[in-house]
Amino acid sequence: MKKHNFSAGPCILPKEVLKEASKAVINFNDDNLSLIEISHRSKPFVDVMNNAKDLVRELLNVPQDYSILFLQGGASLEFLMVPFNLMKINGNASYLNTGVWSRKAIQEAKDFGKVSIIGDSSDKNFNYIPKNYEIPNNIDYFHCTSNNTIYGTQIKNFPICKTHLVCDMSSDIFSRKIDVRKFGLIYAGAQKNMGPAGTTLVIVKNEILGKTNRKIPTMLNYQTHINGKSMFNTPPVFPIYVSMLTLKWIKEQGGVSVIEKRNIKKAKLLYSEIDRNSLFTGTALSEDRSLMNICFLLNDESKKDMFDKMCEDAGINGIKGHRSVGGYRASVYNAMPIESIKVLVDLMKTLEKN
Ligand SMILES: *Cc1c(COP(=O)(O)O)cnc(C)c1O
Repeated sequence: MKKHNFSAGPCILPKEVLKEASKAVINFNDDNLSLIEISHRSKPFVDVMNNAKDLVRELLNVPQDYSILFLQGGASLEFLMVPFNLMKINGNASYLNTGVWSRKAIQEAKDFGKVSIIGDSSDKNFNYIPKNYEIPNNIDYFHCTSNNTIYGTQIKNFPICKTHLVCDMSSDIFSRKIDVRKFGLIYAGAQKNMGPAGTTLVIVKNEILGKTNRKIPTMLNYQTHINGKSMFNTPPVFPIYVSMLTLKWIKEQGGVSVIEKRNIKKAKLLYSEIDRNSLFTGTALSEDRSLMNICFLLNDESKKDMFDKMCEDAGINGIKGHRSVGGYRASVYNAMPIESIKVLVDLMKTLEKN
């Protein structure tokens, strides 16, 4: 049966990418060797790494004074690496608290210095993005989460920040245009919009590093990985390869601006139905609604089993909401075709008619 994969992460990837990736596992570049059994120092893999970085630079217009890294440890390790590399001894940083992921980032930073939470949406179970907060001038950096995967909220306008703006873009990187110049550091675990789990993309402005006088363990020091060209130790070759294929796919689609237009259209289709259909209610504040993770509740719990069965029979996968929000979450990342969203919308209409 054809599946419609609405999983929040790891998530849907383009079929063409999966096909090419599976081929490379057996026979990479028609050289009768597997991608995952050749040296990461060999030319074929060095080419993959360079291609991946070049594509990131091209697709997001990353200026030359920023480094592009493929690391390991997930976005969760960045929660720690960011303060380790950017917070001065007895320094301080400001954070937005917009959900589970930002809370985890805050928790890590607290071990390094003073952390002030200057915007917080926990009063309404994180169903909105705090606004009108003031970013202090005397901080080492300001951290925010661009898309809150669990609650379906997304920052639409990034603040201008006099110090370094640091952003966790795990679940919306490459889904819309961004102005990298505004940011000191961007990080994103690959498995939400770029590739399989196992690598984390980091885009960092070189000049912001090396200012803390902290002793940073080798592997946790961004400079190590810049100097080593993301090859200080063995990189996660397969996740980087698949990410490279996905980036190539994005480029072939016409780039991030084409993808963004598509994402807007896709999200609109589902949000319109949620708003129209008397059986469903969206959970996020309208103006902060995410283009990537669409969260909604079924108003009448007694219809839940029926709707779940309809979804299952239609091949819909992964729309159960996160336990902290309940209801449903349709993740409609870049590779999700609009046809799959139409299938879901039709089921919602059918449920209402019955
Ligand atoms: C999934 C997610 C994370 C955690 O990523 P890992 O790679 O599993 O550590 C962090 N931030 C956001 C916004 C996420 O969606």
